[in-house]
Amino acid sequence: MDIATTAEKLRAGDRRALARAITLVESTKAEDRATAQALLTKLGTDRAALRIGLSGTPGVGKSTFIEAFGKMLTGLGKRVAVLAVDPSSARSGGSILGDKTRMDLLSRDPNAFIRPSPSQSQLGGVARRTREAIALCEAAGFDVVLIETVGVGQSETAVAEMSDLFLLLLAPAGGDELQGVKRGIMETCDMILVNKADGDLRAQATRTCADYAGALRLLRKRPQDPDDFPKAVAVSALEDSGIAAAWDEMQALVNWRRDSGVWAQRRTDQARYWFHEEVRSGLLSRLTADPAIKAQLARLEEDVTAGKIRPAAAADALIASLFKP
Ligand code: GDP
Repeated sequence: MDIATTAEKLRAGDRRALARAITLVESTKAEDRATAQALLTKLGTDRAALRIGLSGTPGVGKSTFIEAFGKMLTGLGKRVAVLAVDPSSARSGGSILGDKTRMDLLSRDPNAFIRPSPSQSQLGGVARRTREAIALCEAAGFDVVLIETVGVGQSETAVAEMSDLFLLLLAPAGGDELQGVKRGIMETCDMILVNKADGDLRAQATRTCADYAGALRLLRKRPQDPDDFPKAVAVSALEDSGIAAAWDEMQALVNWRRDSGVWAQRRTDQARYWFHEEVRSGLLSRLTADPAIKAQLARLEEDVTAGKIRPAAAADALIASLFKP
């Protein structure tokens, strides 16, 4: 790949160049990694999109929502990219997120770019690839980058740590189900969207919204956000209602954070978070790539599982041996 040409095309908004560049950052080959880093450096960081993370369990309406929300944004003249972090794709063998066939209209929109999740197994790899893909989309001049994920485990944390706004999409629910929403996710999300507020579910969606709004306020108060946030907003992705109002709320929050410096601070904190994550995972993969250390690790693991040594003592022994002169 010719870096200068690719960078030029990408910055001109060429979607094929963008797709090729994302394929490059997804590669784990050493030489591709080097080219990817060179390309990212060449592209610079002068352009920034609004990064919106969106989480929700399968069936809650993520693709339907992204299709409606994305079309609304392109209708406003914005360029929209959709990326996915799918922790299950490696196991199931097929990606279930960022599926173009489920976002048919948006995928044919010249102002939209949809990239399904890659089939890498490790979250660390997927997270890095996604952060680099976000950087590529920003360099290509996209105004909004949507990052879709399912509501399981660490992928949610990872997506929250790469978003300016983190949204949780929920379905109308009864009181018991409300209890089931994990506290951690309620604490990280910036806004709850209660989807399927239509037909027979409309009234229930309104009640659910009030319940969640109350729960959000009880759980935490972000001094950096306006008094009436975090909010829960009812939408219908299917009927395309409430989505413009939700966008207004998102913009109100974003503008507030921009003015108060919270926006920039959040990105700084995220850079620090990812630096430490990269150091941790980089160290681990270097260690396990070393045959002698790998063998020692296996021996110690055996001893730990056989009950010969306590886990912490085994780890101490391994780490101490690494730092022996
Ligand atoms: P995902 O798995 O989260 O991406 O969910 P989908 O977007 O594939 O939607 C799952 C199902 O819910 C589909 O049958 C959709 O038609 C339906 N659905 C999505 N949004 C709405 C909505 O706003 N109202 C209603 N009634 N159904 C919806």
